[in-house]
Amino acid sequence: MSFEDYKGVYVFVQQVDNKISGVSFELLGKAKELAKDMDTEVTAVLLGYKVSSLYDELAKWGADKILVVDDPALEPYTTEPYAYCMNYIIKNYKPSVVLYGATAIGRDLAPRVSARVKTGLTADCTKLEVDPETKGLRMTRPAFGGNIMATILCPEHRPQMATVRPGVMQKVKPQAGRKVPVEVADVKLGAEQKNVDVVEVIKKISDKIDIQDAKILVAGGRGMGKEENFKLLKDLADVLGGEVASSRACVDAGWCEKDIQVGQTGKTVRPNLYIACGISGAIQHLAGMEESDVIVAINKDSYAPIFEVADYGIVGDALKIVPELTSKLKEA
Ligand code: FAD
Repeated sequence: MSFEDYKGVYVFVQQVDNKISGVSFELLGKAKELAKDMDTEVTAVLLGYKVSSLYDELAKWGADKILVVDDPALEPYTTEPYAYCMNYIIKNYKPSVVLYGATAIGRDLAPRVSARVKTGLTADCTKLEVDPETKGLRMTRPAFGGNIMATILCPEHRPQMATVRPGVMQKVKPQAGRKVPVEVADVKLGAEQKNVDVVEVIKKISDKIDIQDAKILVAGGRGMGKEENFKLLKDLADVLGGEVASSRACVDAGWCEKDIQVGQTGKTVRPNLYIACGISGAIQHLAGMEESDVIVAINKDSYAPIFEVADYGIVGDALKIVPELTSKLKEA
């Protein structure tokens, strides 16, 4: 095998009910940057059934080419037919890099594919760059409980594969009206691949906005004292038109739902404004929010590490400062 035979940055496009997941757009943006440094192109790999309506969207968000498998066996997602298609595509098209979102689907699919094509997989990456000398991929991810960031290379195998955390990479500016070539991959899916029947999908219905989509987040930590005090954060978030988020300590204490946890084992967020109230700023928390545009920290300990990443800091009692802020904003 020669590395020269492997070309192109491929992005596995995650679609559910014919709606492309946000992380796929983020990956297309990153892939564009990597492809430029590798002097190659970005291919969006679209698997599903009746998915042609998604082509324009993929072109708009940066794909140079779309490789599609359109088959009833691919709706809804199940592991075997998807792994089979990815295996076929990698063996026949020989991409140099394949990226997946570190979502439930990506985390299920990517390891299966990596075992089949006998290559490595760096899971949960937070940074991807091209080594200027070797032109290989440098994949960075938290290691040892998030205490260090490990940079991983794949010097002996191709493709180089990574799952990437949603919310970490930035989307490119979309270009409406862009058209790109579409190629149908000649994959034949039989009964052997369709070995699971999905009987029912029960969707969680929520009227809350996902914290990864919120422009303003008011986040609470253990310093808020108790679950009831999160009402103060909700009031502030409502006045600002934002959402409430939390540190893991509050999720572990049962004060908050896991879906609003920010950090290494929670979500990565990048809002315009992140107000951290009673959060110390542990490295695992910072990993999920330090890319926010503006960070305001309220903490009664002036040495709390959160102040090192904050643009504005208020040293004091969040239980007093938060309601004061809310009432001043209401007056304004
Ligand atoms: P604490 O560290 O206890 O900090 C509370 C802060 O509140 C202190 O700074 C204190 O000075 C301040 N305070 C107290 N009272 C007040 C008051 N009245 N007003 C103002 N300030 C006050 N953590 C995450 O958040 N997200 C993750 O995804 C995550 N993943 C992890 C993964 C691993 C593998 C490990 C080992 C840990 C992870 N953690 C994560 C936990 C992390 O290490 C910290 O324990 C956690 O972030 C601490 O939460 P906290 O800041 O709310 O609490």
